[in-house]
Amino acid sequence: MKLNIQLFGALPFRRISKTAKRQRRTHLKKSAPTTTTCSNCGAVVAPHRACTKCGFYKGKEALKIKKDEE
Ligand SMILES: [Zn+2]
Repeated sequence: MKLNIQLFGALPFRRISKTAKRQRRTHLKKSAPTTTTCSNCGAVVAPHRACTKCGFYKGKEALKIKKDEE
């Protein structure tokens, strides 16, 4: 039986070895997310977003944060 080459399309000439694959993937790393500190309360927050702890953004209260009842 003859294989129909048109069914498969473009394929790599040869298999990538385990070592070559692993060496390529050494450059694939997750980086830590960028964070800043809130100017109002000093909490660690995502940049360009209102603080999740106090609701302040650029010195103004942008969000109403419900206080925990104690
Ligand atoms: Zn804050």
